[in-house]
Amino acid sequence: MPGRLAIGVDVGGTKVEGLLVDVERDDPILDRQRVETPAMDAEAVAGTIVGVARDLMAGRSDVVALGVGAAGMVSVQGVMRFAPNVAWREFPLRDRVEQGVGLPTIVDNDANVAAWGEFRFGAGRGTTDMLLVTVGTGIGGGIVSGGRLYRGAHGFAAEIGHIIVEPNGPRCGCGNLGCWEQVASGRAIDRLGRMAAAEHPESPLGWLMSARPEGLVGPAVTAAAGAGDTVAIRVLAEVGRRLGEGIAGLVNVLDPDAVVVGGGAVEAGDLLLEPARRAFAEAVEGPSHRPEVPILPATLGNDAGAVGAADLALREAS
Ligand SMILES: [Zn+2]
Repeated sequence: MPGRLAIGVDVGGTKVEGLLVDVERDDPILDRQRVETPAMDAEAVAGTIVGVARDLMAGRSDVVALGVGAAGMVSVQGVMRFAPNVAWREFPLRDRVEQGVGLPTIVDNDANVAAWGEFRFGAGRGTTDMLLVTVGTGIGGGIVSGGRLYRGAHGFAAEIGHIIVEPNGPRCGCGNLGCWEQVASGRAIDRLGRMAAAEHPESPLGWLMSARPEGLVGPAVTAAAGAGDTVAIRVLAEVGRRLGEGIAGLVNVLDPDAVVVGGGAVEAGDLLLEPARRAFAEAVEGPSHRPEVPILPATLGNDAGAVGAADLALREAS
C-alpha cells in the first residue's frame, strides 16, 4: 500500500528536529531537518514546526500524518497547557500545526512519544508493557500498557520525576521539596559531584573540577568514573541507587515486562545502571516470586521521540 510515510517532530528548547519516517523499515528514518527553536515566541515555534514539516514533504505525495513531541503538559486535544522551555500557555498547538501543514496531526508529551519510539523500534521491542524513564537534567517518563500508550484521563500521566521521595529534600522546579528527579537525575549527579569534588580535591574528579570550575559536572563525573576514580564511581552509584529504588516503586505499580532508561545520563552506562539494578532487585516487592524485569538502556537516543511521534500519528491521527 503506497502512502505510509509520516513526519515526526521533536521540539526541544534549543532546536526543532523533524524526521521523515517509514515505519515499515527496520531503519525507519529517511530524512531529517533541524532548525533553531524561537522559544520565546509561541506562534513562531508553531510556524517553525510547520516549516520543518513542509520541507520534509516537499515534492512527495506519500506522507500521510504528522506527530509532534514537546516537553510540557499536553492535553489529549493537543493543547500545550504549559511548556517549561517554550512560551506555550494554553496554546492549541495541534490545531495550528494541522492547519499549517494540511496533514492529520497528533501532539503529545516528549517522554510519551519517546516511550512509544523505544517500544516500537528500540529497546522495548517485543514487550507489551514497558516503562520508559528518561534521566536527563530531570526525570521524565512514558508508559506503554497492554501495547498502548497510557496517557491517563487528561493526557498528563507518567510525570514520574515529581514523586516526592525525600520530604524536605532539595527544592524542585515544580515547587515541591524532594522530588525523585532531584535525587536521581543529572541534577543529582551535578550536586553530589560538586560535593564529592570539594571533599576530595586530590581525586581525579576534584582535579578535573578545579581545572574547570564552571564546566558541566555530569560529563566530568562520567569521565572520571570511566577512568576508575572511586570518588566519581561512588557519586554515580548513589544516584543509581536512588534511580533503582524509584523504578522499584513504579514496577510495583505498573508490572511491566521491561524498564528502558533513556536520556543523557545513560552515557554513564553500567556505572549508573548496575547500581540501579541492584537497588531495584532489593526494593521491588517479592523479587523471588516474579519474573526478572530487565532495566535496559534506550537504543534510539535523541531520535526516539520523533520516530515515536511519527508512528503514533499514523495510528491515531485522523
Ligand atoms: Zn518536582
